[in-house]
Amino acid sequence: MNEPPIVIIGAGIAGLCTALAAAPRKVLVLSRGSAGNDGATPLAQGGIAAALGADDSPAQHAHDTVIAGAGCNDLEAVAVLTTQAAEAIVWLQQQGVAFDRDGDQLSLHLEGGHSHARIAHAGGDRSGQRIAHALAAAVAKHAAHVTLQSGCDVDALLLREGRVVGVRTRDHNGQSQQIMAAAVVLATGGIGALFACTSNPPSANGAGLALGLRAGAAGRDLEFIQFHPTALAPNDGALPAQLPLISEAIRGAGARLCDGDGRALMAAIDVRGDLAPRDIVARRVWQARHAGASTWLDARSIGERWPERFPTVFAACQAQAIDPRREPIPVLPAAHFHMGGLATDLLGRTRVPGLFAVGEVACNGVHGSNRLASNSLLEGVVFGRRLGAWLADDIATPAATGALQTLALGPPLDVANWQRLRQLLWQHLGPVRSASGLDTALATITNNPSLAASWPGELARALLNAARQRAYSIGAHYRSDDALGTHSPKVRCCSPSG
Ligand SMILES: Cc1cc2nc3c(=O)[nH]c(=O)nc-3n(C[C@H](O)[C@H](O)[C@H](O)COP(=O)(O)OP(=O)(O)OC[C@H]3O[C@@H](n4cnc5c(N)ncnc54)[C@H](O)[C@@H]3O)c2cc1C
Repeated sequence: MNEPPIVIIGAGIAGLCTALAAAPRKVLVLSRGSAGNDGATPLAQGGIAAALGADDSPAQHAHDTVIAGAGCNDLEAVAVLTTQAAEAIVWLQQQGVAFDRDGDQLSLHLEGGHSHARIAHAGGDRSGQRIAHALAAAVAKHAAHVTLQSGCDVDALLLREGRVVGVRTRDHNGQSQQIMAAAVVLATGGIGALFACTSNPPSANGAGLALGLRAGAAGRDLEFIQFHPTALAPNDGALPAQLPLISEAIRGAGARLCDGDGRALMAAIDVRGDLAPRDIVARRVWQARHAGASTWLDARSIGERWPERFPTVFAACQAQAIDPRREPIPVLPAAHFHMGGLATDLLGRTRVPGLFAVGEVACNGVHGSNRLASNSLLEGVVFGRRLGAWLADDIATPAATGALQTLALGPPLDVANWQRLRQLLWQHLGPVRSASGLDTALATITNNPSLAASWPGELARALLNAARQRAYSIGAHYRSDDALGTHSPKVRCCSPSG
């Protein structure tokens, strides 16, 4: 009898690394778009963090990760991430990733929140694309054990006696197919597309998170969502599905945030100025816009080196007829990364037998309440490889006894209600939250039958309820109605009940 494959849903960095590490087990990777070009992975501009410098260490990387996460991190997960980072970079090189070099050393860059230069780039600001292409090529060489199937949407999990034993896919023509699996891995990425302003691709709509929750996996830290301060604002005011990101590296290279009168936005806010942690800068940009100001990033100081240093951002500006060498760039904050997700252990196991999660859809606590820049590609490699290796050794084919149950996502939303939901979440679950705003959003969903019955509405309620329950500010979760006003890791700890 043919053994069913390990089914991985998602062909981003987490899914592909899991697949490569699961050799020689048979693996089937299902995704909406083609591997190498799909999900958030190819969009990553900054790079991947690892303590590789002579004066750096995993302990210092871990320290920075926990400071960024406001102490809400799982320390064991942080230790795994940071101690395995150097090996992850070597492994990526073996898969064909050509990181940028200074002579015979990797060139390492500084980003906000890092105490040392430890961000490795590939192709300047095209790191994600280069890594995704190299991993897709590596997977293609392992065709004997990994099969890629793109153009399909997983819309249901199949269970037998409480164990996940397969998935149901739907293709572009609406044809559905049941696929049995030795194990199912959700590597479906984040939830940014649920927000009106986002840097994430439309595929980051939270379907994998919704499926996992439906199947009984626990959600963890669902309210911890990172907002990036600088997405490129559209010149006609109409929000596209996804906004181009203006990487933090550009502020690292000297760019400054200002209002329409040229006044510095960050000067009086934080001693770290424009390189203060992302949540602080994003909130400042949000608040300035809510006070009626326009918000700009003045990066003219980069001068003629713009096209060479930041080709992706330069091209995005040019596409909107903006020349960042000569004029400030209009910016606005955008939903960027989900620290929370499906609760897993350090191997990627959820509490549902047969169901695993890895990458942005998962939460093992590594990021705490705020992700340190460039730690998420690393998370995909380190925890993907761990999970793949564990599955290769330990997963047994489930018995084919008992009735097969299909746990499907609820109804989807029509375009108008989808846009309504994205606006609602941006307004009330964005960089600034309050009990009254969260209650308004919850009531709006409940009172709209289409929203209330849909799977995105159900997922939104889980996110809003988590934000409602954490009645204080910490990390990226900012409550304007917090009696203490601003977060302070010194007086706050991240208790699960809070
Ligand atoms: C603009 C941008 C810049 C970034 N820059 C950096 C950076 O410099 N450094 C860094 O560390 N991180 C960065 N990040 C974050 C990082 O890119 C992501 O966290 C990471 O790539 C997520 O990888 P993943 O494999 O978990 O998911 P993804 O790469 O998003 O892949 C998800 C996959 O799941 C598939 N999928 C989803 N749902 C379904 C479904 N129902 N059925 C079938 N397939 C499905 C998608 O098609 C896709 O293949 C950035 C993110 C963005 C958006």
